Amino acid sequence: MCKLVPDGYFPTYRQLTPDYLISRGIRALVLDVDNTLAPYEQPDPDPALLSWLRDMRQSGVALAVVSNNHSDRIARFTRDFDFPIIAGASKPLPKSFKKATEILGLPPRSVAAIGDQIYTDVLAARWARFGLVVVVPPIRDKRDAFTRFKRLCERPVMRRLFRREGIAMPPKQNKKEKRSDHSDRT
Ligand SMILES: [Mg+2]
Repeated sequence: MCKLVPDGYFPTYRQLTPDYLISRGIRALVLDVDNTLAPYEQPDPDPALLSWLRDMRQSGVALAVVSNNHSDRIARFTRDFDFPIIAGASKPLPKSFKKATEILGLPPRSVAAIGDQIYTDVLAARWARFGLVVVVPPIRDKRDAFTRFKRLCERPVMRRLFRREGIAMPPKQNKKEKRSDHSDRT
């Protein structure tokens, strides 16, 4: 359980700063895409994301994308990104995270991951021995039973994380609440 608790929590990816990473000895950040940088149905990166990515790199943080989503979606979303992209990653298997560190030419302890899922993003980063793993809440979850089950399984881990961070645990949300809560976060 302890290994599943992320090292940090941010309300959105935009609040993760180069200073935070660099002060922890991190030299590269591996990005999840869906529900971390954009909702599933958003085909292209928005200007705020492009600006955040630019800031990261200008501050000396290298970037890579590792996504479980299929290559067409990721190929379009990342078409203007000139850093390593790995789609169809099969997280939580750590192989794609390890491959990303090899391409970046950095030891895993100097690499961080950001994602929205405990049992894929966090677990893969732990198994790949990344130096840091941070999570964001999902921008807009799918409504299917599998997703709801996944989030239910994450709650004990998130409870520990929130307790450590001194954050109130959000209540379980019904479909209507969830939709309105995230309506301004695209
Ligand atoms: Mg995701």
